Amino acid sequence: MDKDKIILSVATTGTWPAKAQNPNLPTTPDEIARAVIESWREGASVAHVHVRNDAGGVSCELARFRRVKELIRAQGCDILINFSTSGGSGLVDEPERFNSLSAGPDLASFDAGSMNFNERVFLNPPAFLEELAQRMLANGIKAEIEVFDRGMIENAAAVIAQGLIKQPLWWQFALGVKGGAPATPGSLMYLVDSLPPGSLWSVCAVGSRQLPMNVLAIAMGGHARTGLEDNLYYRRGELARSNAQLVARLARISRECGREPASPAEARQILGLA
Ligand code: ZN
Repeated sequence: MDKDKIILSVATTGTWPAKAQNPNLPTTPDEIARAVIESWREGASVAHVHVRNDAGGVSCELARFRRVKELIRAQGCDILINFSTSGGSGLVDEPERFNSLSAGPDLASFDAGSMNFNERVFLNPPAFLEELAQRMLANGIKAEIEVFDRGMIENAAAVIAQGLIKQPLWWQFALGVKGGAPATPGSLMYLVDSLPPGSLWSVCAVGSRQLPMNVLAIAMGGHARTGLEDNLYYRRGELARSNAQLVARLARISRECGREPASPAEARQILGLA
């Protein structure tokens, strides 16, 4: 397979954005599944999914994760499904964060450390991370190691050293969060240089830094994540019409740079999934 293929992920919804900020944000299982399928048609091979309750707040309800997966697969869409384990609005190490694993995603997020996150604290203590990795491993779910700051690479390394995360390692740098590493070229270079050999990495960044950091990842040989979870705008002053609109632009730029978006089957192969 062409080693220049790029894995484009779409993060449709996230925890924080609200329809009041962009009415095109998908929040119900139907809307989320539709957004995933449209993004898949534009070249996304991984869908990173959070679910919401009826009031639009973040939810860990298993039935909702199951419903999203069911709706995606019912349309013959083979996109790799990556469910969030970041939990409810409390961002604490509560066991309900494991719920989404029971819906059988291909991948799940593994937030590799605690941090100040905007005005809150995002708790991911060592014992929680160990249990999360154990559960993923036991269920054949690949960890997407989310890194918000340099120290998180070391936290993950401790879990990897216990044999709880399988090769090839798949990292997602989430940059520009208030409390984490900045979304700058220097920051990304430093993080990439800090990874263990043979690592695969992708980058996402918040707000107006999303596109420039994605473009940098294309140029550096990494992979890239876009979507309304990280950024609600298409360009300054213009709200994005959909997740698919953001994916389509990223796929266009990737192709112009000689990096064809990987199909889900190819992404599966790159990530070492069965
Ligand atoms: Zn997320």
